[in-house]
Amino acid sequence: MQLYTKIAIALILGALAGSVANIFDVEWLVTALTAIEPAGTAWIRLITMVVIPLVVASLVVGTATLGDITKLGRIGGKTIAFYLSTTAIAVTIGLLISNLVSPGSHMDPAALESLRSTYLTEGASRVEIAQQAPGLVEVLLEMIPRNPVQAMASGDMLPIIFFAIFFGAAMSVLPERRKAPLLGVFEGVNDAAMVMIHWIMKLAPYAVFALIGAVIARFGADVLGSLLVYMLTVLGGLALHVTLTYTTALRFLARVKPPAFFRRIREVPLIAFSTSSSNATLPVTMEVAEEKLGVSKEVSSFVLPLGATINMDGTALYQAVATMFIAQVLVGDISVVAQLGIVLTATLASIGAAGVPSAGIIILIVVLQQALPPGVDPAVGIALILGVDRVLDMCRTAVNVTGDLTAATVISRSEGGVLLASSDEVVAA
Ligand code: ASP
Repeated sequence: MQLYTKIAIALILGALAGSVANIFDVEWLVTALTAIEPAGTAWIRLITMVVIPLVVASLVVGTATLGDITKLGRIGGKTIAFYLSTTAIAVTIGLLISNLVSPGSHMDPAALESLRSTYLTEGASRVEIAQQAPGLVEVLLEMIPRNPVQAMASGDMLPIIFFAIFFGAAMSVLPERRKAPLLGVFEGVNDAAMVMIHWIMKLAPYAVFALIGAVIARFGADVLGSLLVYMLTVLGGLALHVTLTYTTALRFLARVKPPAFFRRIREVPLIAFSTSSSNATLPVTMEVAEEKLGVSKEVSSFVLPLGATINMDGTALYQAVATMFIAQVLVGDISVVAQLGIVLTATLASIGAAGVPSAGIIILIVVLQQALPPGVDPAVGIALILGVDRVLDMCRTAVNVTGDLTAATVISRSEGGVLLASSDEVVAA
C-alpha cells in the first residue's frame, strides 16, 4: 500500500474515533485518544528536528553550485512577486465570498453571547501576545543574524536563510580545491537529512492517527452550529483559491496538468493538515518537490523554506473572512475602503505569521485593530471565532503548503527546469 493511502486511512480512522468520542461523550475513548497524542507530538518533533540541517545544507549547496550568482537575485525577485500576488488574490477571494455569503448576519444573538462569555479570557490573552509582536523595522533588522548559530538554535528561519545564502555565495567564488571538500560535507548533510525524512515518514500514518484523534475528540462540537456558516465560508474560499488560482498558475505558467501535480504532492497537504504547521511540513514539502515534481534544487532550497515562513495564502484568506465575519457580527458591514485596507494588512500579516499552529489567529489581531472601528475590542472578535480555529488552522495550513509547492513548480519551469516524470502530465508549450 502506498504511503499516501496509509496516511489517508489513518486520518479517516482518527477523525472517526475522535468524532465518536466527542459526539457520544465516550469517556474512555477520549482518555485513550488523549493518552496517545504524545506519540503524534513526538513525531512532529522528529520531523521538525530535520528542518534546520536540511534548510541550511540544501540552501548552501543550492547557492554554491548556482554558477551565476545573479540567478539567485532573479529567482528571489520572481518568488517574492509570485508570493505577494497569490496572497493578494487569496485575500480578495476571501473578501468577495464574505460579501456574498455575509456569514456574520447568520449569527444568533444567544450564540454570540455564549461564545463571548466562553472564550473572552482566552481571546484577551491572545491580544496580549499580539501586542508583544515586533514592529516592521525590527522584523527587517532581525533578518540579519548577529549570530547565525543562535538563529539556528532558536529556529529563526529568515536569518538562517539569509546566512545560508550569504555563505553559499561566498563558497561559490572559492577556488575549486577549497570549495570541493566543504561542498561535499553540505551535500552529505543534505542527503542524510533526506534519508531521515524517508525513515520518519514511515511513521507518519500512526502519528496522523494520534494527532487527529485527539484534536477531534477535544473539539467543541457544541460551537459548530453557531459558527457553521463562517466555517463553510472560509472552506469555500480556500477551495476556490486552490481550484482557480493554483490550477491556473500550474496550467498556464508551469505548464503542468493540475491533476498530475495534485496526485504527486498529495501527502504534503495531508501532513500539513495533521500538524497545522508549515514549518513541520517543510522537510516533506522539499522532498516531494525535488523527488516527485522534479523541481531543481536551486529553486526548491530557496523557494520552499522562504514560502513556509512568508507565503501563507490560506492564512491570509482566512484572516479576510474572519475580519469580515467579526465586523458583520459586531458593527454591521464595513466599507469598501476599509476592505481595500484589509487586502494590504492581511497580505502583510500573513507574511508576518510564523509557520506554526495558531500563528494566524494571533496575527489576525493586527488586521482587526486596523479594520474595526475604534472602541471595538479585538479580544471579543477573537473570542467569537476561537472555538473552531484549530480545525480551520488545519485547512489553511494545507493550502499554505500547496501554495509553496505551486510557486516552486512555476519558478522552476521559468528557470528552464524539467518538471514531472511523464510527458503526458505536462501541457505542451
Ligand atoms: N498554522 C499555519 C501554518 O503553519 C499558520 C496559521 O496559523 O495560519 O502555516
